[in-house]
Amino acid sequence: MLEQEVETRPWDEQLALDDAAYREQLAYLLARSAFYLEKLGAAGLATAEDAGGLAEIAGLPLTEKSELKKTATPESPIGTHLCADASEIVRIYSTSGTTGTPSYIPLTVRDLDDWVTGSARSYAASGITAGQRIVSTYNAGPFVAGAALASFDRIGLCHVPVGTGNTERLLRAVELLHPEAAVLTPSYAEYVIEAAADGGLDLAGSSVRRVLVAGEPGGGEPAFRARLEEGWGARVTEAMGIGDIGISLWGECEEQDGMHLGARGFVHPELIDPETTESIPFEDGASGELVLTHLRHQAAPLLRFRTGDHVEVRMSPCPCARTGPRVRCVGRTDDMLLVRGVNVFPSAVRDVVGTFVPRVSGYVRVRAERPGAKQEPPLPVAVELAQGEETDPELAGAIRERLRAVLVVQTRVDLVPWGSLARDEYKGQLIERRT
Ligand SMILES: [Zn+2]
Repeated sequence: MLEQEVETRPWDEQLALDDAAYREQLAYLLARSAFYLEKLGAAGLATAEDAGGLAEIAGLPLTEKSELKKTATPESPIGTHLCADASEIVRIYSTSGTTGTPSYIPLTVRDLDDWVTGSARSYAASGITAGQRIVSTYNAGPFVAGAALASFDRIGLCHVPVGTGNTERLLRAVELLHPEAAVLTPSYAEYVIEAAADGGLDLAGSSVRRVLVAGEPGGGEPAFRARLEEGWGARVTEAMGIGDIGISLWGECEEQDGMHLGARGFVHPELIDPETTESIPFEDGASGELVLTHLRHQAAPLLRFRTGDHVEVRMSPCPCARTGPRVRCVGRTDDMLLVRGVNVFPSAVRDVVGTFVPRVSGYVRVRAERPGAKQEPPLPVAVELAQGEETDPELAGAIRERLRAVLVVQTRVDLVPWGSLARDEYKGQLIERRT
């Protein structure tokens, strides 16, 4: 464990420390953030005392990404939630949004150090230790993922960056440099299994013993994870962060039962119902959209920020001795479909279909026929057959039946030939919308 004393601290002690930090963060926001001065003022809160402590946090307004973007102007490109002086900012990341102006994420020296500390705890939870080699496939340049790379130095790893979308370079590094670990998006980890087989590399027999996945949901889905573990001959654990709040805030330990909060002391987690935005108690077995609050951020702290990640919470003690909550991300709230009142996440569909490997390749597309979440049954699902496998109505029927039994959703399963669903070398697309 990287920081035994912090990571095994009883959770109620952590919450008491966090409560004190939160009250200071509120006072800081009201003193420095034009955005929150206005937002909290509109909610009738003029002082930090009015807002109370963490126990009362659900009474405060939520913050959405779109609100922050709206306050960004050419004169104030970061937005009115910026709290620090220009001289205090040491790093500005951008989001990878595909259209328009990116949003900017500023950090002070301490913010950056907190990011790296939390990320290092999260990644170290996987079991990788100082002296081992890790090959990374992050696009480090402008994006927040770049800050995660510093956490590998913090752990004491020998870091071999190969960048995004350079599979040939990745495979050569695995073959020649013998890394113990690799870090990638789950979609890319899946893609690399095929690419290695095509290139004649025995990935399962390689030096890689740990595969750390992050960047998109799905790495914790049991059947999908089992497929990655078989293809890589490695243990797969996942990590998760969110650009505006922090990198790799959460990281899974070797028990593989949800991600521990590596960024404990830096952020406070809550759950809400994504439809009604009502608060959901953060307790064992609960699920909902993850909402995060900075506890000691300086550059642009956020309060009750909606992450868009739909998670399940585990509060039971973990055999690794780390305390506090664990979460498993089941999907993005944006990707959640509602079929006759039942929530369906495309990554869950992929996981169920994955139990039919080796007859299918494991690649799926959920084809949403309407905009938004609400869909009419049967929900069309394209399932790619394995190489050399012929289409078979009985197989389609068996997949449809298992989807109905596990996810309680009526689907129409269309079997499509091997290789017909596009592979992605970064983040995968599980849902296709007819617009
Ligand atoms: Zn654990």
